[in-house]
Amino acid sequence: MGTFRKRILESINNETLQTALDNNTERRLKGRAAAFESIPDWRERRQRTHAIRADVIDHLEAYLENFIARNEENGVIVHRAQDAAEAIQIVLKIASQTSARLIAKSKSMVSEEIALNHALEAQGINVVETDLGEYIVQLRHERPSHIITPAAHLKKEQVGELFHEKLGIPYTVDIPTLTATARKVLREIFLTADIGLSGVNFGVAETGGVCIVTNEGNGRMVTTVPPVHIALMGMERIVPNFEDLALVLSLLPRSATGQKLTVYTQLLHKPLANQQRHIVLLDNGRTRLKNSPLKESLYCIRCGACLNACPVFRELSGHAYIGRDLSIAPYPGPIGSVISPGLLGENYVQLAQASSLCGACKDACPVDIDLPKLLTRVRAGAASIDENRPSLNHSGAGLSPSTKFGLKMFTRIATHPGLFAASQKLAALTFSLFAPFSQWVRLPAFTGWGYSKDFPRFAGKTFREQYTSRPALSGSAGRSDSAFAGTPAKSPASPVNRLDQFFSELGALNGNVVSTRTPTRSVIEFLQARGVDRIHLEPNTLDEELLTRSGISFTHQPDPSILVGVTNALCGLADTGSVLIADGVGHPLEASLLPEVHIAILRASQILPSLPDAMHLVRGTSAAVFITGPSRTADIEMTLTIGVHGPKEIHVFVDDSNSG
Ligand code: SF4
Repeated sequence: MGTFRKRILESINNETLQTALDNNTERRLKGRAAAFESIPDWRERRQRTHAIRADVIDHLEAYLENFIARNEENGVIVHRAQDAAEAIQIVLKIASQTSARLIAKSKSMVSEEIALNHALEAQGINVVETDLGEYIVQLRHERPSHIITPAAHLKKEQVGELFHEKLGIPYTVDIPTLTATARKVLREIFLTADIGLSGVNFGVAETGGVCIVTNEGNGRMVTTVPPVHIALMGMERIVPNFEDLALVLSLLPRSATGQKLTVYTQLLHKPLANQQRHIVLLDNGRTRLKNSPLKESLYCIRCGACLNACPVFRELSGHAYIGRDLSIAPYPGPIGSVISPGLLGENYVQLAQASSLCGACKDACPVDIDLPKLLTRVRAGAASIDENRPSLNHSGAGLSPSTKFGLKMFTRIATHPGLFAASQKLAALTFSLFAPFSQWVRLPAFTGWGYSKDFPRFAGKTFREQYTSRPALSGSAGRSDSAFAGTPAKSPASPVNRLDQFFSELGALNGNVVSTRTPTRSVIEFLQARGVDRIHLEPNTLDEELLTRSGISFTHQPDPSILVGVTNALCGLADTGSVLIADGVGHPLEASLLPEVHIAILRASQILPSLPDAMHLVRGTSAAVFITGPSRTADIEMTLTIGVHGPKEIHVFVDDSNSG
């Protein structure tokens, strides 16, 4: 514990770190609150998602059997790994069978959990992280400090110095220049990698599909370009069907990055032509966790919202979450303080001390996971439980005698409603006497209270009094979520304004929408204005004769030197400004990924209200992607930068010739 405390103090006193953290969390919290405004029924969605995840974990083996069977029918090779060593051996075997020397990797927390990079590099395989934040921390030989924004602990000056030193560019703090440098270096990696390795956000039991969401486009690159794709998946990341997936996807990006939908939401079912796909399903302690009092932690969808909401994480950053052996925990923050010890053992039990148990993490969680309850269980030693001892172990691993006594007293009071109410009244009385003098009060300097942090104003009533006197909230079982309290509800779009909504949503994301009755002529005008005379074209999308007569040549094959790709869109989504592109003849997935400019042709009648309305179109495709705006990142100082690995521009030509 001594070293843990020392690391905590170092983090608190590191001004550079504190500035970087403030930038990250403030913007994340604001973005998230704004994104939830568009789903006024979010409380109901949260409860439904909780129920879905609970059902999946309760019947995990049955869902997994289905998921594996569908994948085998789809030509995907599924491997099951009991632990980290077995997962590493499986990846090494695939690498050996395919004579792989270079692996392009997109973000995967599971790979951090099993220290995969280290094991591959030890065998002489070059592994390159391709998410911008991950790439930065890999160049610094660090672990990610946040599960969503891996380089959240760094300022642009540090990234500028790093790129100057490692990539040989002149020192700069210009974020678009830094991003463009990474794009250039990593493009070569994507094009030459022997294997693409990704994580998995969700596996769909009903169809065997894997859903991968990324903003930069690196997830698409590693699953599309290399001849072999390995998807590394925690075995609990299952949803039963497309309907449930659409529900969970309405919460994940909003909670993670404040987006209605991530830029690229991929659904992969079959390997692409000339591609081999493997899924490695990892247990590594999940079965043990499922049979323990920490089971609820397996409902997690890894959105990172609890990290941003946690007042302790916001002061510390992920690198302060260390085990007894001084190793940085792969999963930090409130959820990390449960699953790191839960999956990886006693070494990380002390992390559960890094919480004020204020409940902000539970409020923020889109799955309504009771994190404070789980944290107290870890503190009480529950992490050490195994399936043969399925009751709480109150040994109090990692706790001092005074803390154990305090917890015992708290348990006694908290489990007797009368005692609890009386204790609240007594505390309120004490605090009201103390309030007029609070400005002169100081706690020990290391706590920060009274120095850098003001004491909060005292509430006039106890929480219990406020709770019992308030009117019930619809769909929330009388509960409120402080993070979103007061956000106005918006009406869902009516069919009449679907097209307008699509225009406005995509426009807000730096995409461009052109309404036209003659798509080929409009595209030709666009290309001629840009001086483009060669494109990657999906067949049966534009009038090819007219293109040729206008001096525009085209290919149906991927060509990284081509500037513009033109594809058909299966549909558009009014509420997010997304278009759906599916694999097919003429490589539309590559045409919408490799060029700097993507043009999608969409019929106005194919604009659907929302994601659930479009999921049936994904059924039967071998691979499909919902694209929501141009490729983007905010990995350096949370500054939005357009155009990382995917196209920098997206133009949707909406054919309204039949819209009446
Ligand atoms: S515990 Fe909840 S808030 Fe935290 S990462 Fe998991 S899903 Fe998100």
